[in-house]
Amino acid sequence: DHLFKLLIIGDSGVGKSSILLRFCDDEFNEKQASTIGVDFKTKFLQVRGKKLKLALWDTAGQERFRTLTSSYYRGAQGIILCYDCTQRSSFEHVKFWQDEVRKYSTNQDAILMLVSNKVDLADQQVTRTEGEEFAFANSMMFIETSAKTRHKKNIRFMLARRTLVSA
Ligand code: GDP
Ligand code: MG
Repeated sequence: DHLFKLLIIGDSGVGKSSILLRFCDDEFNEKQASTIGVDFKTKFLQVRGKKLKLALWDTAGQERFRTLTSSYYRGAQGIILCYDCTQRSSFEHVKFWQDEVRKYSTNQDAILMLVSNKVDLADQQVTRTEGEEFAFANSMMFIETSAKTRHKKNIRFMLARRTLVSA
């Protein structure tokens, strides 16, 4: 089996826990409780015929104090960096999160995926093109999503790419 450590980072409220909930249980909770500390889930799945054991690390609280520890980042193979397309500030903070990754991530070939969440909402403050261009300029994958209305393919998309790379 492959063990794959995946982190989800980004400002508080962008929908990190909701994205993981959609991915793991295919559910959405309008009143998603704020995560306390680090939340950790494991999930088994098949991607391109390979069995993966996913270790999913969700955070909260820390993002407010901006002191995520290096143990959180250590050995991560996939990093999902989220912003909320209806909150311009969360897109502007992507650079901050990218610096955190540079500082703490020990794995040089970790795959980064930039995720624009909440595309179901009308009042968008960040265009798709802006997200795409940032991702392209920084060698990240990019997707738009909605934890509320879209189904759970997102993370699979990243994993498919990853296993392709490591095959
Ligand atoms: P986190 O702090 O990054 O973990 O964000 P949460 O997952 O707790 O989500 C914050 C709030 O945004 C909650 O009220 C969620 O229900 C809501 N939310 C998350 N994703 C979406 C989405 O795709 N669309 C909409 N409309 N609301 C969302
Ligand atoms: Mg959360």
